[in-house]
Amino acid sequence: MKYDFVIIGGGPGGYTAAIHAAKKGKEVALIEKHKIGGTCLNWGCIPTKALLHTVEVYNAAKHSQAFGLEVKEAVVNWEQAQKNKEEIVQSLTDGVESLLEKNGVTIYKGNAAFKSEDTVEITTENGKEEIQGKKIIIAAGSEPIMIPIPGHDLEGILTSKETLELEEVPKSMAIIGGGVIGIELGYIYHSLGTEVTVIEMLPQILPREDEDLAQSLTEILEEKGMKILTDCRVSEIEKASDGFSLHYQMGGSSEELPVEKVLMAVGRKPEVAWLDSLALEMEGPGIKVDYQMKTNIPNVYAIGDVTGKYMLAHTASHQGIVAVEDALGHKMSMKGQPVPSCLYIEPEAASVGLTEKEARDQYRGEVSVSYFDLQMNGKALTIGKPLGFIKIITEKKWNEIVGVHILGPKATELIAEAVLALRLECTAEELAHTIHAHPTLSEAVMEASAGIMGEAIHALSSE
Ligand code: NAD
Repeated sequence: MKYDFVIIGGGPGGYTAAIHAAKKGKEVALIEKHKIGGTCLNWGCIPTKALLHTVEVYNAAKHSQAFGLEVKEAVVNWEQAQKNKEEIVQSLTDGVESLLEKNGVTIYKGNAAFKSEDTVEITTENGKEEIQGKKIIIAAGSEPIMIPIPGHDLEGILTSKETLELEEVPKSMAIIGGGVIGIELGYIYHSLGTEVTVIEMLPQILPREDEDLAQSLTEILEEKGMKILTDCRVSEIEKASDGFSLHYQMGGSSEELPVEKVLMAVGRKPEVAWLDSLALEMEGPGIKVDYQMKTNIPNVYAIGDVTGKYMLAHTASHQGIVAVEDALGHKMSMKGQPVPSCLYIEPEAASVGLTEKEARDQYRGEVSVSYFDLQMNGKALTIGKPLGFIKIITEKKWNEIVGVHILGPKATELIAEAVLALRLECTAEELAHTIHAHPTLSEAVMEASAGIMGEAIHALSSE
């Protein structure tokens, strides 16, 4: 069978590419060895957000008195929380599968292997089958990295997947890695009563984020009772009678931490080992691609985590559309695309563009920075969540916005305006002089922009 597009991997990158190509009238095959929806829908973004919502409702119930509500006792029913999470995942993966079918995409459930540059062999339950693609898109995703310290392979060491499926809320948990996974999962279990210790080897958690944002978030999480150790290295994990014993080095001294559970969240690596038969050029751990997501092999594209560039579902989906459009001979590019990054705990964090340090380096110090404190935003006060800020960075020549960092309620929604602002090369004046509805959190973004000119109405001063 010969298709216009053969897409390997049914995560957000692969399934978006498949549906997009099918909507353009093409014959499309999608191969998935496990579950449609990939890591994001099954073991990543969606189940995490479902549990984070449980925690949000729980916290809201516990702190509802100030809003005039008497909740006698908020009790976590973990089994129901897990069931709710699984139902959401199921309905979403079923939905995606039916979207693929309704758009005429042929789904192959099996393991793909390249026989040649245009031929893929699929091993299914019923045997082997070969299909050909005029264009092939590799969207095979990534897998967790396990750092090779002694004890990393002990039975019971968790990755994010198992952590989302724990049958009980543990008494204590050490999380190796203070990235997005470590902080989101740590926050969930801490909120449910687990004693959580995050161990990060770099000087700040969320090392890719702006220093102010990471620092403020660290203070907030510590205030809530999470233990965060930075500049800290785990040297060994040992099995103990009631869990594990972690040995770590910090500030020149060696410490030991007894815990029930250990989560390894030190990043993910592209799934490329199965591609040995193809002479693909690599870049770092991932497949090398250009701005149109083309690999060095004609007609073979790679998108998403397998490229090792941004391991984010939304980037993978967009790259899928770019690859299909390029394959159809249309102009589309990833060049200059601002990519938002989001953290869904409370308070939420989201950012796009340059950090202050990056902006100062890139523009040789010629930058302006404005903060707007959410304490001064009416909507944030009405919902009882005035903790956080909007930080906007502009370059000085045109006042173009080059970085936006948000800490606070709905940060992950508010960032969309900032992404558009960066994409359209918007200046601080343009954003500040755009009417924002009142009362909304988005007014804070407008005010932070106005702050660049020293004109934020609800601020005493702007930096
Ligand atoms: P990450 O790269 O975000 O963070 C890994 C962290 O581990 C880093 O802070 C790193 O410095 C630290 N680290 C590395 N080696 C260490 C060691 N030996 N000891 C202690 N710390 C160490 O990776 P992640 O959190 O595992 O997430 C994987 C990918 O999934 C990321 O690319 C992330 O963006 C993506 N993801 C995104 C979201 C979201 O958008 N909300 C949520 C989950 C995951």
